[in-house]
Amino acid sequence: MKNRILVTGGAGFIGSHLCEKLLDLGNEVICLDNFFTGNKANIVNLLDNKSFEFIRHDIINPIMLEVDQIYNLACPASPVHYQYNPIKTIKTSVMGTINMLGLAKRVDAKILQASTSEVYGDPEIHPQVESYWGNVNPIGIRSCYDEGKRCSETLFFDYHRQNQVNIKVVRIFNTYGPNMHPDDGRVVSNFIVQALKGKNISVYGKGEQTRSFCYVDDMVDGLIKMMNSENGFTGPVNLGNPNEMTIVNLAELIIKLTNSKSKIIFEQLPKDDPQQRQPDISLAKKELNWQPETKLEQGLEKTISYFRNLLF
Ligand code: NAD
Ligand code: UDP
Repeated sequence: MKNRILVTGGAGFIGSHLCEKLLDLGNEVICLDNFFTGNKANIVNLLDNKSFEFIRHDIINPIMLEVDQIYNLACPASPVHYQYNPIKTIKTSVMGTINMLGLAKRVDAKILQASTSEVYGDPEIHPQVESYWGNVNPIGIRSCYDEGKRCSETLFFDYHRQNQVNIKVVRIFNTYGPNMHPDDGRVVSNFIVQALKGKNISVYGKGEQTRSFCYVDDMVDGLIKMMNSENGFTGPVNLGNPNEMTIVNLAELIIKLTNSKSKIIFEQLPKDDPQQRQPDISLAKKELNWQPETKLEQGLEKTISYFRNLLF
């Protein structure tokens, strides 16, 4: 069935892929973004599509639209960007989420929240399961993002309990792919850009901390499956690729795949940087019949070729 779908943060990295996929599936898509970290170039190929509309808007201000579904992705996601204006970041997650939930309530739309593995903080449970409540510093430099997203989850469940809003909460683990901003500061884009330019690869700390990287196409499939899941399944559900590795191993792999002469250098580890992260995706497998299909090397090759075209 054709739905009218709002994607907030639709000009960003994940949002732009999501808009494209939803259009391919025959939906009408309204993409809303304030271009804080998003980019017109990410959606320029969609602008000619009659089923696509773009609205420049900041979700901390209310908006009225007639839609069937809302994917709420608006929020800077890289530590560099969310720490640039932390008060704005938390306003986006709290005031922005209230506005989107208010809209969902008024027009009776289904709404999905792009939450994050950061709700687990520096986790003491490994791999992370949805029932784990997390280990989060409430007053640190990452808190504007972590606590903002935790509060947005609380708001989702309160609107569900109090106003019967049809909610879907997804905890996204580290995702990478084309359309990431080259200066966005996240590890995959940083390492690829440094390797392609022949610059030193900046590993923070000893590089022994771990992450698990999911290719964006897999993530988008998971988001759509979650939105369309039935039987009142609200989540929260983890989406990510359980394939865990150390950051220094990622640096070595990117040097190999780009055929680069870059050397690894070790820089100071940012404060509150989680030591380990791996999603337990049993719930997503059971409820959504979803698991990532793209191998890391395959996904990195596509991402490297995107950055090669962008930079040279
Ligand atoms: P991104 O920075 O590329 O995209 C975020 C988009 O939201 C940008 O286009 C930005 O301009 C827009 N935006 C920010 N604040 C806004 C506001 N107040 N009003 C309107 N638009 C606003 O990041 P991404 O990686 O695509 O992340 C998308 C969502 O997924 C975010 O909510 C993020 O927290 C979540 N997430 C991403 C990852 C990941 O690894 N990429 C991991 C966990 C969670
Ligand atoms: N990181 C790094 N060098 C970089 C960027 C990031 O070593 O140039 C490390 C960072 O300290 C963290 C991991 O890579 O341990 C993932 O960082 P990112 O910012 O991509 O995501 P997050 O910390 O939010 O998972």
